[in-house]
Amino acid sequence: MNVHVKPALPMLIDGKLVSSNKTFDVDDPATGKPFTQCPDATREQLEEAVAAAKRAFPAWAAAPYAERKALLEKLGERIKENADALAELVTLEVGKPLDKAKQEIAGACYWLKGFADIELPIEVLKDNEKQRVELRRKPLGVVGAILPWNYPVLTAVWKIAPALITGNTLVMKPSPYTPVATLKLAELAHGLFPDGVVNIVSGGNELGAWMTTHPDIRKISFTGSAETGKKIMESASTNLKRLTLELGGNDAGLVLDDVEPKKIANDLFWSRFSNNGQVCVAMKRLFVPEKLADPIAEALIEVARKAKVGNGFEEGTEIGPVQNRMQYEKVKAIFDDAVAKGAKVLYQSEVPEGGGYFFPVTILADVKPGMRIVDEEAFGPLLPILTYSDLEEALERVNGTEYGLGGSVWSSDTGRAAEIAERFESGSAWVNQHPAMGPDIPFGGVKGSGIGVECGRWGVEEYTSIQVVNVKK
Ligand code: NAD
Repeated sequence: MNVHVKPALPMLIDGKLVSSNKTFDVDDPATGKPFTQCPDATREQLEEAVAAAKRAFPAWAAAPYAERKALLEKLGERIKENADALAELVTLEVGKPLDKAKQEIAGACYWLKGFADIELPIEVLKDNEKQRVELRRKPLGVVGAILPWNYPVLTAVWKIAPALITGNTLVMKPSPYTPVATLKLAELAHGLFPDGVVNIVSGGNELGAWMTTHPDIRKISFTGSAETGKKIMESASTNLKRLTLELGGNDAGLVLDDVEPKKIANDLFWSRFSNNGQVCVAMKRLFVPEKLADPIAEALIEVARKAKVGNGFEEGTEIGPVQNRMQYEKVKAIFDDAVAKGAKVLYQSEVPEGGGYFFPVTILADVKPGMRIVDEEAFGPLLPILTYSDLEEALERVNGTEYGLGGSVWSSDTGRAAEIAERFESGSAWVNQHPAMGPDIPFGGVKGSGIGVECGRWGVEEYTSIQVVNVKK
C-alpha cells in the first residue's frame, strides 16, 4: 500500500487553514525518500498564531468547564471517525506498523477523554467565622507545545487536551520529521473551537526557538531530547515561562534471581523494542543475574526471531524502520562503538534491502560502562544485556545515570520487587512491566529526564497557576 499526501496539508492559524510560501520535504522512513511537503511557517505566521491565541484566551478561559469538555470530546469523535486515515499517515511518516499506528490513534482518543474528564474545582482551604480561603486554579494564557517524532498524534493530544480543558489557548508545533498526522489533526480541529483557541504550525527547529522566546507565550510543554530541553529552559527564562519538559531516559530493567526466563521473555523484549526502541521510556539497559544471563538471552532471541522487521504497511510487520536518517546514523554509531569496545553481538535480525532506514533488532552482551550504549540514551533497536552478581551493586549501576525517567524490576515475588523498585531514582518504577501508563496516572522524569509531569490531575495542574482568594469575614 502506498499513501501519498499531495498537495501539502495546511496549518491552522486563527481558525483558518493556511499554507506558507515556503515548504519542506517530509521523508517516508521505509524508502528514505520524500513523500510530501509541509508548510514552513514564517515568523509572521507564528506572530499571527500567538496573537490569535492571545485574543482568544479571555473568552476561552471564561467558558464553563462543561463547554470546553464537550468540544474536546467532539474532537475525540472526529479523531475516531478519521482513525484509519490518521493511522495511515502515522505509518507513512513514522514507519511504525499500521496496527501499531491504529493503537496510537485509539490511545489518543482514550487519553483525550481521560484529560477532558479532569476538572479542577475550587478547593476551600479554610472556612471559619474569621475567614474563607479558596484555592483556585487559573489558566496561564497562551501555551506553546513542541512535539517529538515518535508518537505524533498521541503526544499532540497529551498537550492539546490538558492545555484546553484548563482554559488555556495553544500554539503547537510538530517535529519537522513527522508533521503530517499533526496537520491532519489541525484539519479535524478546524471549525470546532473558537478561532485562535488551537493553532498548529509546522516548521523546523528555528520555529521552536521562536516560540520559546516569545513574550506572549506563558508556558512551554515540550517532549524531545534532553539537549533541546536545556536550551528551552534557558530561553524560557526571558519571561519566566512555566515549563513541562519530558526528555529522554536510560531506563533500566532489573531482573531478579527468581524469574522464569521463558515466562518473562516476551514482555522484556517488547519493553525494549516496542516502536522500534524509539520510546523515551523504553527499557534501554537490561540487568540480569550472572547465572540467568544465558537462559534469558536465549529466551529473548527466541522472541526476536519471530519479530518481523519491515515496511509498516506490509502484513505481519511488527517493527518498522528507524524514523529518520539522523537517528539511524546515531543508532549505528552507538552500535559500532559498543562492538569496537568489545561487546558481543548475540543476535541481529534481517532487514529489508533497497533503501529506508532499517536497522536490525540487535541484542548485545559483554557491555560495560564507557560504551555509549550504556552511558547514553540509545533511541533505537539495541538491547544491551548487563550481568550482575550483587544486587546492591546492580542498584547502584541502575541509578548511575544522568537520567531518571522509568525503570522496572522483574520477579516472581512482587512484594520484594516493589521494595527494590522504590529505590530506583526515576519518576516511574514498574514491577513486571515496562512501561505502564494511564490518563489518570502522572508520568514524568527526575534528574536529567525533565521537569514536571504529564497526565492525571497532577499533569493537568501544570497548565494552571494557583490563586488564593482570602476573604476576611
Ligand atoms: P529534538 O529535541 O531535537 O526535537 C524535538 C522537538 O524540538 C522538535 O519539534 C524540534 O523541531 C524542536 N526543537 C529543536 N530544537 C529546538 C530549539 N532550540 N528550541 C525549540 N524547539 C526546538 O529531538 P529530535 O531531533 O526529534 O530527537 C533527538 C533525540 O531526542 C533522540 O535521539 C532521542 O534521544 C530524543 N527523543 C526523545 C523523545 C521523548 O519522548 N522523550 C522523543 C523523540 C526523541
